[in-house]
Order: sequence, then C-alpha cells, then structure tokens
Amino acid sequence: MTKLVAKWNYPTTVRFGVGRISELPEALLAAEIAKPLFVTDPGLARLPVVADALAILDRGGVAYEVFSDVKPNPVESNLTTGIDAYRSGGHDGVIAFGGGSALDLGKLISFQAHQTRPIWDFEDVGDWWTRADSDAIAPIVAVPTTAGTGSEVGRAGVLTNETTHTKKVIFHPKMLPSIVIADPALTTGMPRFITVGTGMDALAHCLEAYCAPGYHPMADGIALEGIRLVLENLPTAFAMGNDLTARAHMMSAAAMGATAFQKGLGAIHSLSHPIGALYDTHHGMTNAVFMPYVLAFNRPAIEGRIERLTGYLGIQGGFDGFVHRIMDLRAQLGVPSTLTDLLGGRVLSDEEIDRVAAMAIVDPTAGGNPLELTKQNVRSLLEEAIRG
Ligand code: NAD
Repeated sequence: MTKLVAKWNYPTTVRFGVGRISELPEALLAAEIAKPLFVTDPGLARLPVVADALAILDRGGVAYEVFSDVKPNPVESNLTTGIDAYRSGGHDGVIAFGGGSALDLGKLISFQAHQTRPIWDFEDVGDWWTRADSDAIAPIVAVPTTAGTGSEVGRAGVLTNETTHTKKVIFHPKMLPSIVIADPALTTGMPRFITVGTGMDALAHCLEAYCAPGYHPMADGIALEGIRLVLENLPTAFAMGNDLTARAHMMSAAAMGATAFQKGLGAIHSLSHPIGALYDTHHGMTNAVFMPYVLAFNRPAIEGRIERLTGYLGIQGGFDGFVHRIMDLRAQLGVPSTLTDLLGGRVLSDEEIDRVAAMAIVDPTAGGNPLELTKQNVRSLLEEAIRG
C-alpha cells in the first residue's frame, strides 16, 4: 500500500501569453531587481529575440549587462565566468533568458554568486541544499525561449562537471525564479531539431513523473494533461513553427512537466544524463531516443498506469497502443530511432556501455524509476537502445 505522504511546491508567478515579454521591466520591479545580469547563450545573443528583449529593457530605462558565455549542457567554467561578471558588474539579480542551458546557468549564477562553498556541495543529494546561505541567493526573472526543460519553474540547475564528465543536478528551493515571463512568440524561431528535442523533453518529464512510484495525485494530474498537450500540439509546432496556439500549448506542457517531476523522474533521464555528459548530445533528443526502450523495460511495473493514461487520451490498444503512438510520433518528428543513430553511427564499445551503466545507476533520477536499476539491467537496456 502506497504511503499517502507527499511534499508539494508551486510558488512561481507566471505571466503567460503572447506579447508579454513587453512586461519585462515591470517584472524586474516586482522581483526587486534594479541592475540585472542578462544571461543568455551565444546563439541566441545573435538573434532578434534577444535584441528585441534588450530594446524593451532600454525603453524601460533598465541598467543591465549581457553575459552569454553559456555552452549547451553548461559547464563549471561558464558558471565561474558568469559569477565574475555578476560580481564585477555589481548586479542584484538575474534575467535568465533562453533554453534550459541559459536558464540553468542564470539560476546557478544567482544562487552561487555569494556562497562560500563549492557548487558541487549543493548537488541534489539528501538535504545538501541546507548547507547554502539561503539569504545570499539573488532574485531571478526567467524567460524561456524553448518549450521543454521547464527550468523556469524548477528549483534545480544542471551543470556538467568537466573533471568527472558527469552531469550534476544542483538543487535549492530558492533557485526557483520568482517571476516567469512565458511568451510563446519567443519560441517560434527555434530550429526544428530544437522544437522536437525540447518538446520530447517535456513529454519525457510528464511521462516519467506520471510513472514514478509514490503518492502525488497533483503531479499525476498535471503530468496527464501535459502528455495530452504534447501529443496534440508537438506535430503542429514542428510542421508550422509560427502556429502560436501550438507553441502556447507546448510552453504550458513544458512548465507542467517540470512541476510534475517534483514527484520523480526515471531511467530515461538516468541514461540521458551520462550520454549528454560524455557525448554532448541534446538532452531532450536523447530522452526521446530512450523513451520507448524505457517504457518497454518498465512494463511490468507501469502497465496499469499506462492503460489508465490511454483511456484519458483515447488511444486504443492499451500499453502496446501507447508505445506505438510514441514510436509513430518519433518517426513523424525525425527522432533517431537508436542510440547509434543519435551518435551519428558510432556504436558504443563494451567499456563505454559499462561506464554509462555505472553512471546511470547512481544518477539522482534513478531512484524514481518504477523498477530498480542495476548495472546488469541497465546494460541490457542500453544494448537494446544501441541495436534498436
Ligand atoms: P538549450 O538551452 O541548450 O538550447 C539549444 C539551442 O537552441 C541553443 O543553440 C540555443 O541558442 C537555441 N535556441 C534556444 N531558443 C531558441 C529560439 N527561440 N530560437 C532559436 N534558437 C534557440 O536547449 P534546451 O533543451 O532548452 O536545454 C537543455 C539544457 O537544459 C541541458 O543542459 C539540460 O541538462 C538542461 N535541463 C534542465 C532541467 C532543469 O530542471 N533545470 C530539465 C531538463 C533539462
């Protein structure tokens, strides 16, 4: 019998809607930020989406500086230079503007700028976050430009440790942005590959949260509706990038996924994190590749839940029908069908499989998988994903 005990957390204010980026100066006032560091990535910094946001800040008389030394899958050196920029510029808060990479780095800068312990002391392990000086964390206004990670409503930032080649989840409740501007129009310029990868990331968050064991009916309900929104809108967002209705539903689904995964994630993420850290693949696209393999792997533990989901979604054929729907969606969106395809034809060696499996079973998301992950069963799962 599941113990009816849970912990819920939903405090962010989200200003959602097309055109609401114009409210950025007002959001800064509300967050009590007078001199923000505008954190984005170098690709975005060259696009009109950033120029337009900066013009809004100029018109609002906001004194800001831009920091854009952010890699996709950000690394510790990005954080170090970001903190230098934050301190030397005398900033009092962050605008985290971009996809998950820029959002996470912006959140991590505001978190770490005035801490005295190394960032790795705040990994999402037990209550390590209580080691931080909570009063030293600067406010954050988050502006997503992709629709996938949901980092804008999350309390974590993902950072790659370049020494150990591992992706670490850094957690603190106060890393949650106080205000989010979720303007779907900002996502229309995403290249198709990113629309697909981020959309599948949102789906992976909802699906893994829904399948995670434990008592969390609020997360389950949010995840269920998030899955529906992705299945019904990602194909349109992919085919017609300027469709603002589809973009808006995808932006909601992304925030819903990250809200729901307070309940837990699972093996899709436990595998995706080491693959991303070792081979620098796109996080959401990597999740998309693993999704059907992990569903099949977890079948004995999740079949009943997935059948309930198919009832809600109106999908025929129970568990198999759902997996087929995922496979069809992946094919329609051009998602690589195997890990080998994702890695451009590179077949992982035995030693590499061992290394990834060893990393996956200690990933913080592994504990949320409905079936226990062992080095042996993760190896088999990886071999399936490599072969197809
Ligand atoms: P990303 O932030 O790495 O961006 C990918 C690319 O898309 C970049 O080149 C960027 O310039 C471009 N881009 C972003 N928005 C664009 C737009 N509107 N128009 C044109 N180009 C645009 O991708 P992502 O998938 O959003 O984030 C991935 C990162 O988020 C990974 O590091 C992952 O580990 C992390 N993540 C964090 C959480 C969390 O809870 N904090 C959850 C999932 C993933």
